[in-house]
Amino acid sequence: MKLSKHSPPSDSSPAQTLIAPQPDQHSALLLVDLQNDFFPGGALAVPEANSLIPLINAYIKHFSRQGWPILATRDWHPANHSSFVEQQGPWPVHGVQGSRGAQFHSDLVLPPGMMVISKGTDPKKDSRSGFDGTSLADRLEDLNVQTLYVLGLPTEHCVKHTVLDGCQRGFQVVLLTDATKGSDPQNDGAANVLQEMTDAGAYLAHSRDIGIPPFSH
Ligand code: ZN
Repeated sequence: MKLSKHSPPSDSSPAQTLIAPQPDQHSALLLVDLQNDFFPGGALAVPEANSLIPLINAYIKHFSRQGWPILATRDWHPANHSSFVEQQGPWPVHGVQGSRGAQFHSDLVLPPGMMVISKGTDPKKDSRSGFDGTSLADRLEDLNVQTLYVLGLPTEHCVKHTVLDGCQRGFQVVLLTDATKGSDPQNDGAANVLQEMTDAGAYLAHSRDIGIPPFSH
């Protein structure tokens, strides 16, 4: 990697007080698994995930207007994928290539030419992180991206692992906390999940922190 590592938060102030960097021409927006199967009605539904869509569209619009890259990961499993219960895996059938559940939610306003990163395409391997077994890191390097703004579903699985992997690979990673949601309606452990990411060097930011106009839900 040509990218330089940034200092972990322990070098300076506690993670909670770190101010996230502002996006610029070396930034990209990464949409994690915004597929029907992770929205209500889907196989691995995140409760109330629909409520995020207007704000996610606002983030997309903001990055599009500036001409900054937008990429999206998706679960893109073969029908006999090893992560499915039928194959002794932990999950119900989801994200099957070409299925309705694997499509991006139709209320999202996705930019033309958006780069789509498919993961979990090998029947024998699962990919919780968007970097795992994909071209994501190469694409970002080609685009000269240094800072990755991450949103999507679900916080404690694919979002977290993508953030941790991004930090490990030397990217500056900002988790957009108001545009991610976890699967657990009780929210147990949500603070720990965020802590795990900030411990790895990720920043947490809210739409207002990075110049998205105030948004009414
Ligand atoms: Zn999957």
